[in-house]
Amino acid sequence: MQRTGTTQFPPSLLEELDTLSRDGLHRRASLAPFTSFRIGGPADFLMIVHRQEDLQRTLAILHQSRAPYLLLGGGSNILVSDAGVRGLVIINQCRRIYWPENVHTEVLDVRVESGALLAGFARESIQRGLAGLSWAVSIPGTVGGAIVGNAGAHGGDIASVFLEAEVWHRGRIEHWPHNAMSFAYRQSILKQNWPPSAQPPIILAAVFRLQRDVEGQAAVEAARHIAHRRRTQPTDKSAGSVFRNPPNDYAGRLIEAAGLKGRCIGQACISEKHANFFVNQGQATAADIMALMNLARYEVWRQFHVLLEPEIRFIGDWSNGPHLWTPGNQERVDAS
Ligand SMILES: Cc1cc2nc3c(=O)[nH]c(=O)nc-3n(C[C@H](O)[C@H](O)[C@H](O)COP(=O)(O)OP(=O)(O)OC[C@H]3O[C@@H](n4cnc5c(N)ncnc54)[C@H](O)[C@@H]3O)c2cc1C
Repeated sequence: MQRTGTTQFPPSLLEELDTLSRDGLHRRASLAPFTSFRIGGPADFLMIVHRQEDLQRTLAILHQSRAPYLLLGGGSNILVSDAGVRGLVIINQCRRIYWPENVHTEVLDVRVESGALLAGFARESIQRGLAGLSWAVSIPGTVGGAIVGNAGAHGGDIASVFLEAEVWHRGRIEHWPHNAMSFAYRQSILKQNWPPSAQPPIILAAVFRLQRDVEGQAAVEAARHIAHRRRTQPTDKSAGSVFRNPPNDYAGRLIEAAGLKGRCIGQACISEKHANFFVNQGQATAADIMALMNLARYEVWRQFHVLLEPEIRFIGDWSNGPHLWTPGNQERVDAS
């Protein structure tokens, strides 16, 4: 029996996971390469899954054994703690896209496995003469991660094209239609905090409704969005926007107005190009990023009385801190 914290992984379970993983089961594997920040400690166990049937089998045996797991897509909206993740991390690389045969109808429903890259899906849809995803051409990460966070940009979002998802939940596959998803600004029912003991629902695949691009505008819009990003966003290692925009304002504007653009803690810096992008300049730790987030949260609260809420998710073991600063917390944030 392999014990990780309070978790037990019987040898028979580990053997089967080994066969279901693309290149075998890894022990104490660093998660940094699987995140866009390139930051994060080890997972007790890590496997990469690239076939849908292997993912379903993996989830079924984990359900039976009640072993804890976490599934990641592109790792582009998370900060993994330096202590890492206890239990199993599954990297989802199930990437098939099922394009329908008849491209002459006005509306097309496309089924996509959840590990497909959103930007790749969007770009191919445009090449195929379809409209609806031009906003997504440069958003990193997978379709599954995009549904969880209702990813969006340039006035579009997942909710505007989503039809239904196939979701692994409580040991079986369920079909969740649009109205079951509770989509809101960068939110869905899947982004809520599921109890640590519970195995969270996993999106296996989803169906999106796209339109025929009668006027040929999708490629033009996509090119405009790509150019806008190149002008306004850094290309360093980051997780995109770290804070949600508060109502009627922008987190980046507030952080810049607080005088924090370019500020660094260790090798984590607030980007000179976009103040809501925190970048890893090489060897930044998760603790550095958290400390920088706390500095921004504290200063924006002190100067403007706006409390910035994280957009990224904190993954793994944060029991030894650092913790997210909250107003009223006596611990002073070092703003020097
Ligand atoms: C440079 C840059 C620019 C960005 N720009 C934008 C932008 O314009 N708009 C925007 O919305 N976001 C943006 N982001 C953030 C990020 O790209 C999106 O949030 C993306 O949709 C996350 O997908 P992912 O696969 O990387 O998710 P991950 O980071 O891997 O996971 C995020 C969460 O979803 C869960 N999850 C992932 N897949 C599944 C699944 N199949 N089933 C259930 N749970 C799952 C994970 O457990 C985790 O809790 C940007 C990020 C970067 C680095």
